[in-house]
Amino acid sequence: MITRHPGGLRLLSVHAHPDDESSKGAATLAMYAAEGVDVLVATCTGGERGSVLNPAMDRPEVRADIARVRREEMAAAREILGVRQEFLGFVDSGMPGPGEPLPVGCFAAHPVELAAVPLVALIREFRPQVVVTYDETGGYPHPDHVMTHRVTVAAVEAAADRHRHPEAGEPWQVPKLYYHLALSRAWFRALHEAMTERGVPSGMGELLAGWPDTPPALATTTRVACAEQFAVRDAAMLAHATQVQPGVAFMAHPRDIECEVWPTEDYHLARSLVPGPGPGGIETDLFAGLRADAVAVAEVGGG
Ligand SMILES: [Zn+2]
Repeated sequence: MITRHPGGLRLLSVHAHPDDESSKGAATLAMYAAEGVDVLVATCTGGERGSVLNPAMDRPEVRADIARVRREEMAAAREILGVRQEFLGFVDSGMPGPGEPLPVGCFAAHPVELAAVPLVALIREFRPQVVVTYDETGGYPHPDHVMTHRVTVAAVEAAADRHRHPEAGEPWQVPKLYYHLALSRAWFRALHEAMTERGVPSGMGELLAGWPDTPPALATTTRVACAEQFAVRDAAMLAHATQVQPGVAFMAHPRDIECEVWPTEDYHLARSLVPGPGPGGIETDLFAGLRADAVAVAEVGGG
């Protein structure tokens, strides 16, 4: 049961696995939470099929009880970020090899409409003005990430329709839906170039060399300045000890360089009921257009 503080600003961030909230948009969550926004992370799966990516944690007792370990890691990260978090109760789909079927009963094997129901109920209960999730590529080709996108879009639509899932609560229209643009090629390139210019060894060159040469699909509409929370983000990421090897390429850069060349987390405004930034314009706040009249929007949306 999610307690809702009426009249306040509420942000819902939907992720596939425990750890995704800490690697994509975590400083944004910490910043809004520190400001007094009610921030809720919904985690679709328990991450039960995740590999242990940190050799220091790759022990038989950890592997044998990975679901519990990941719940504990998630609880620690949630505390560090200062947010609330709910599991939606699906089972991790794992990363099937080419031609391999999805495991029976896993998250990505569900019909989207059915898998969206727990999130419809959560949206109707929490009534967020802003929902953030991945774009249609998942941002990363894991079946659970692509499914998280589909389920979130379906749930945002269904939550507003009183004829759909009437058992899942009173309708709620989400005013703004965003997609993450985190860990983009442009971000890696900017950090790699800044490190190289300063004579700092960069572990990002290899990653960039293997990056498919495709243009970014989605425009950046929103840049949230949240560098003050990068240390909180890093601590939350490291709380997922089974998933992060300290010093891994996407975390190995000097933070002063990151604060200088890329002090924001970036988003694409996918849907909005309030006027957006306009062509080429950039918002600096996920709640842009919603702050002065948050209560009025909530009343219209709930009607
Ligand atoms: Zn994930």
